[in-house]
Amino acid sequence: MTDTATHNRETLGFQAEVKQLLNLMIHSLYSNREIFLRELVSNASDACDKLRFEALHNASLFEDDSELNIRIGYDKEARTLTISDNGIGMSRDEVVANLGTIAKSGTREFFSRLSGDQQKDANLIGQFGVGFYSSFIVADRVTVLTRRAGEKADQGVRWESDGGGEFSVEMVEKAARGTEITLHLREEQEDLLEGHRLRGIIRKYSNHIVQPILMKKDEWKDGKSVTLDEDETVNQASALWARPKNEITEEQYQEFYKHVGHDFDDPLAWTHARVEGRQEYTQLLYIPSRAPFDLWDRNMRHGIKLYVRRVFIMDDAEQLMPQYLRFVRGVVDSSDLPLNVSREILQESKDIEAIRSGCTKKVLGLLEDLAANDKEKYGKFWGEFGRALKEGIGEDFANKDKIAGLLRMASTLADTAEETVSLSDYISRMKEGQDKIYYITADSFNAAKNSPHLEVFRKKGIEVLLLSERVDEWVVSHLEEFDGKQLVSVAKGGLDLGKLEDETEKKEQESAANEMKDLTDKISVSLADRVKEVRVTHRLTDSPACLVADEHDMSANLARMLKSAGQKTPVSRPILEINPRHPVVLRLKSEEKRFDDWASVLFDQALLAEGGQLDDPASFVRRVNQLMLEMGGK
Ligand code: ADP
Repeated sequence: MTDTATHNRETLGFQAEVKQLLNLMIHSLYSNREIFLRELVSNASDACDKLRFEALHNASLFEDDSELNIRIGYDKEARTLTISDNGIGMSRDEVVANLGTIAKSGTREFFSRLSGDQQKDANLIGQFGVGFYSSFIVADRVTVLTRRAGEKADQGVRWESDGGGEFSVEMVEKAARGTEITLHLREEQEDLLEGHRLRGIIRKYSNHIVQPILMKKDEWKDGKSVTLDEDETVNQASALWARPKNEITEEQYQEFYKHVGHDFDDPLAWTHARVEGRQEYTQLLYIPSRAPFDLWDRNMRHGIKLYVRRVFIMDDAEQLMPQYLRFVRGVVDSSDLPLNVSREILQESKDIEAIRSGCTKKVLGLLEDLAANDKEKYGKFWGEFGRALKEGIGEDFANKDKIAGLLRMASTLADTAEETVSLSDYISRMKEGQDKIYYITADSFNAAKNSPHLEVFRKKGIEVLLLSERVDEWVVSHLEEFDGKQLVSVAKGGLDLGKLEDETEKKEQESAANEMKDLTDKISVSLADRVKEVRVTHRLTDSPACLVADEHDMSANLARMLKSAGQKTPVSRPILEINPRHPVVLRLKSEEKRFDDWASVLFDQALLAEGGQLDDPASFVRRVNQLMLEMGGK
């Protein structure tokens, strides 16, 4: 055996990200070092869950030992702490993959973006489920002995590392299945080698763990503690979500979240309910307080664990939450689904559809509640997850109105992009005679805020929503109205302010259009291949001209977005609108010699003002210089 063991011994290097993580973690998490135990117990519990699940199909995996539990022991002399479980265990390949790399994609990028200060932020580091590696906060050597359930005793694996760049693995004998982790404590960690200290940590962080966490009893004898040969269960050892709400404290909900959500931060909010009816299930759903770094990664893990009658079935049950709520974490425990339910079955199941719809409503209800009663929290939620929620407008037809009610947007009545308003706020402030919700889309807050299209709205004190996120184009293309009020782009179609304008204003506009007819015709000819139409507008007060998209054409902002994403877009020429009172426009009426240059500059500056790019910037510059010289000469 010794021979094969030596023969099998291999020394391997950690993946680069792990090395980085180990360094960062030891420093950033040190002040909260006790959490290593929570992480190891959490892993042990998951391993027991996985075994119970696999044993549903193959009872022999229990190997005559079906009482799943987690044990914690310590040895003062040897200065070691041991956490063991009789869960699923790991094969050699699994050990190398799980304890030598970080599986999450995108970690490398994430690390490279962290600034020095962020690296010290424990909660950022915590996002990785640094889990197992947190043992190195308190240990300078960690030994893992593990054997996968169902394998022979000689298929045990011993993994060891000092948390430097390398680890070793070798095959060893291990009679009991499962995993035993031994931490060789660093200097000055002696306080952890005390029964009551450990029990305190377990109760604080791991009380909710479903499996019993066993420790040997202690007794005080002659002024010191003596360990007895008798086990006691330290935690409550029952499924938290199955307990009545009034028996669960705030802290217990929070600690449970850290286990299911693999997060170090407290959750922002949660909802816990037992649903009766055609489908019976319990849901405990959490909103994290921070967006995970991979929220925009298509392969991001979803966060719902599915249980059937307390038996863990699967992680990452993406069928239980719509895509736009992919950040929600928690547990759904069904009383009705069969225990052998698979991902394939989930995809087609009507029962799952009912559960998903129930969970979606519950989360949206929780958000509505926050929005109404805790504006600060809701603002925090919106800052982290608003962009994801917006996807729901086009994705979840049944809940479109609810989601629309949860939207928050910047507006001309605010100074910063962060000060947002809801559509209901907007409606409650509408001017007398106003029956539409006005918005503008642009590729940045400043471009939206300073757009010439807003001039008449400013003058009349009419609020306009400023939409500057990419997903906003998607939102407005799916949201035609809210609360009976149509959403209208101020940069599309003709501007009809309806009752917001009086008769005199309308008359003035008509006569201006007549007076300018010759000019607009002439510009149309000059810019024939660039514009669809040239017309007089009353939307401008300070600018000479602006571009608008025709009613049913794509907005210029969307066209630019698609173009920059490399997509072919139908070419639709914009409408050039001119301000009949602007001196530049008036001057143009009498221009003969350089009319084409003037018209071209008018068009180009309108395009620049709305954040567009010129096809031929050099010609624009040449024309402007030419005109400047002529002006100077006068
Ligand atoms: P996470 O728990 O977030 O996946 P960890 O670094 O804590 O990250 O663990 C990595 C993986 O190692 C786990 O996903 C699991 O597959 C495996 N693992 C860790 N601890 C155990 C254990 N006690 N028994 C079986 N597998 C384990």
